[in-house]
Amino acid sequence: MDEGQNYTSFNSRSLVEMVGNVTDEALKATKIKQFLSVLAGRFFNWTGRKSLFTLHLGIKCCAIEMAASAIPRFDAERFGVIFRSSPRQSDVLLVNGPISKKFADPIVRLWEQMPEPKYCIAMGECAISGGPYFQSYNILEGVDTVIPVDVYIPGCPPRPEALIDGFGKLREKIIRIGGVTSAEREQDKPIIVGDE
Ligand code: SF4
Repeated sequence: MDEGQNYTSFNSRSLVEMVGNVTDEALKATKIKQFLSVLAGRFFNWTGRKSLFTLHLGIKCCAIEMAASAIPRFDAERFGVIFRSSPRQSDVLLVNGPISKKFADPIVRLWEQMPEPKYCIAMGECAISGGPYFQSYNILEGVDTVIPVDVYIPGCPPRPEALIDGFGKLREKIIRIGGVTSAEREQDKPIIVGDE
């Protein structure tokens, strides 16, 4: 690269930085930045609620109903429920079976790898309370003992329609609370599908 090119690229970068700084200061001074961040937050919530990427995690028999919800008969994708195989690209942790004490650490690790704002749905009695394994020596009494749950879907197993309804309720909650982090909404009352 010759000297002229270096000079041009240096000047371009400086210009972008200078314009960026001036714009940033102007936005801060006029509170427009605050306004834009609220507006953008609302907009991302509005768009995000219709594309809830769910971690593709199957634990036990409820996972069969999760799979059934994605087939053409129920077609959960038409509501924006899309299963992804990486926690780093997921918004929702759908727990669909009993959590053994051995599996408690890995599932918390998956939860921690998900970006905020993230949500947890407990599907089926096993995920809610341990189900048939309630007070068993090696099963947690519900996933909410290790991860905050936003929506409970009772049943053994809940049908795909109930699962889709659960996502609908979560969507309503997202609209109501906005994009607050899971830690910030710890006091928020969870939703129980079928309890309204
Ligand atoms: S709640 Fe029932 S169907 Fe679901 S994982 Fe537990 S035993 Fe299986």
